[in-house]
Parts: sequence; structure tokens; C-alpha cells
Amino acid sequence: MSKRDYYEVLGVEKGASKDEIKKAYRKLARKYHPDVNNEPDAADKFKEAKEAYEVLSNEQKRAQYDQFGHAGAQGQGFGGFGGGAEDFGGFGDIFDMFFGGGGRRRDPNAPRQGADLQYTMTLEFEEAIFGKETDIKIPKEETCDTCNGSGAKPGTKPKTCSHCNGSGQMNMEQNTPFGKVVNRRVCQHCNGSGKIIEEKCTTCHGNGKVKTQKTIHINIPAGIDEGQQIRVAGKGDSGVNGGPPGDLFVVIQVKPHDFFEREGDHIYCELPLNYAQAALGDEVEVPTVHDKVKLKIPAGTQTGKTFRLKGKGAPNVRGYGHGDQHIIVKVVTPTKLTDRQKELLREFNEIGGNDSTNEQDSSLFQKFKNAFK
Ligand SMILES: [Zn+2]
Ligand SMILES: [Zn+2]
Repeated sequence: MSKRDYYEVLGVEKGASKDEIKKAYRKLARKYHPDVNNEPDAADKFKEAKEAYEVLSNEQKRAQYDQFGHAGAQGQGFGGFGGGAEDFGGFGDIFDMFFGGGGRRRDPNAPRQGADLQYTMTLEFEEAIFGKETDIKIPKEETCDTCNGSGAKPGTKPKTCSHCNGSGQMNMEQNTPFGKVVNRRVCQHCNGSGKIIEEKCTTCHGNGKVKTQKTIHINIPAGIDEGQQIRVAGKGDSGVNGGPPGDLFVVIQVKPHDFFEREGDHIYCELPLNYAQAALGDEVEVPTVHDKVKLKIPAGTQTGKTFRLKGKGAPNVRGYGHGDQHIIVKVVTPTKLTDRQKELLREFNEIGGNDSTNEQDSSLFQKFKNAFK
């Protein structure tokens, strides 16, 4: 199995800055995240991008990858670095901690920005058109009150890790196809914290943090559409050591509607007509997302004929007016007829059902006839 080059996966240059790498990853993650993309290969592409990002966003791993390729980046037990996706689980809605949090933890006391959160919200078709105000509950990590974040049972203290002498890192020798590589890796005994907790705090089970929920009021603008996202600044996870909080991104999904279809600000629908209505003309009532509209069907209307109801579409999400509703006629051939209906249609056929006073219709039937000669 050949793996794609990580730079190629993210679509960045070899010398790309951290910011460029982060940006490229965000873009791909939003595009291929399995919660927003139903294509069969989306999950694989997402995984591939995530893996590339995990390596290239980490100075150590990136240096190793640059030197040794995939062989250098694999099997290094980097799990403790964090900053990647962390599964909250159990909170009902789909959540991912994506970014932020910092890939490196060289100095555990440096200010760090809180992680950005992504929340996927599914709206009804009409809710997306008219907007809505709603409260969402999002999980948040807070310092544990019982142990003040130390993770140790009150009255006890965490001990310095004897394996790494409190540095949280160990030098490891590893044999690779390119020879012996010495690299630093996170101490697996203390997971990089440099401390061992012998008696864990029972509230947070040694994490020093507890999961809580906070309620955030979200104003969804009218006209929002599938795949768009709302950024709520500062509503991601709290920063660490005085760092700023991350942002919350609400990604919108819209449920399909039975009758209406949306394309940008325009709404499309199919209007079924029987051929008496289509041939003789009629006046029919057509639903729009706003109200009902009376529509005059002229005599001789064909399948595919489109009527436009100006301004009856979705409002533009940036406030530039409204789209239109397009009504596409579909003449429906009946599949079940009563005896009386059959009789009338036979009679219609006998008196020249293919003849029309319209030249275009007649010439089409004529061309069909001629094709047999
Ligand atoms: Zn250790
Ligand atoms: Zn605790």
C-alpha cells in the first residue's frame, strides 16, 4: 500500500508555515468530515488529512517525516501529544475537538489557546429559509474543583515521574530501515505530564478537568444553506494558563423537503398536471415556502415548461433580497383509468389525437411517421 505524501495530501509546499498547514487542514477537514460529507470516500480522505496534519503540525514529527518519510513518522508512539481529535462521547450531538490546544507541550505553563469546537446542527428545510434562534448545549472542560486541577486526591500530591525525572519526555533509540534513529518521545508512564498520581481524585479520576455543559444562544440567519457555518468567537474551549478561548463553529445541515428543492436562494418544485389540464389550461394553487399562489396554466402547456414566481424563494443570507420559486410542469400520464375514462380517450384518439392545430406538434408526429419510410 503506497501512502500519499503528507504535503501532497494537504496541498501545501514543503516549506509551508504552520499557519498554512493548519489552514489547509481546516479546509479539508470541513470538506470531508463524515458528519458533513456523505460521499463514500469522504471518511478515508478525512482520515488521510488528519494523519497528515498530526504529523506536519508537530515540529518533531515533521522533522522526522522530512528526513525519513513515512517510515520516520510511523510507530513513534506520539499519542500523548494531544491537540488532535479528542472524542467527547456521550454528549448526544456530534462533536469534534479539532484544532487549537497546541500540538506541542514543551512548556506546560505557557499560555495556550483553547480548542476550537465544531458543532453540527441539522435544520428543517423551512428553518434554514426563515432562520431561527436556539440554545445549544456544548460540552466544555473545566478545572476540577475537588483537586484544583492537580488530579490528586485532596491531601495528597502528584509525585515526580521517576522514568523521565519529571521532564515528560524520554530519548528513545529506534531501528528503522535507514538505521538507528534517536528521538524524543513522550514518556508513556506519565503521558508527558512529568507527574505520577498515586491516589487519584475521585471527582475527575485524575484528569484534573471535568466535563460540563454550557448553553450557548445561537442566532441562525434566514437563508442559511447546507454546508455553511456560523463562527461564534470565543465560545470554544477555555484557554489554558491565561490563553484565549477557542471558537465554536456551527456547521449547518439541512433536511431535504418532499416537494421543494433549493439551489442557492432559488427554490424549485415540480407541478404535476394531468393532460386535460395541460391541454385545456387551468388555474391551480401552488404552495411556496411563504404562502399559496394562484397560477394560471395556459392551454397547451408541455412537460418541462417552467413558471417563475419572483421573490418566492429563500432570502439571501447576506440580506440581498430574495430568490425566486421555479415551478417545472410535469404532465403525468395516468396508469389506472376507469372504463369511462378509457372510452373517452379512445374516442379522442379516433378523432385524431395526434392531430393538432399547433404546427410544431404536428410536424413532430409527421417526422416520426416519415422515419418509417
Ligand atoms: Zn514520565
Ligand atoms: Zn479532581
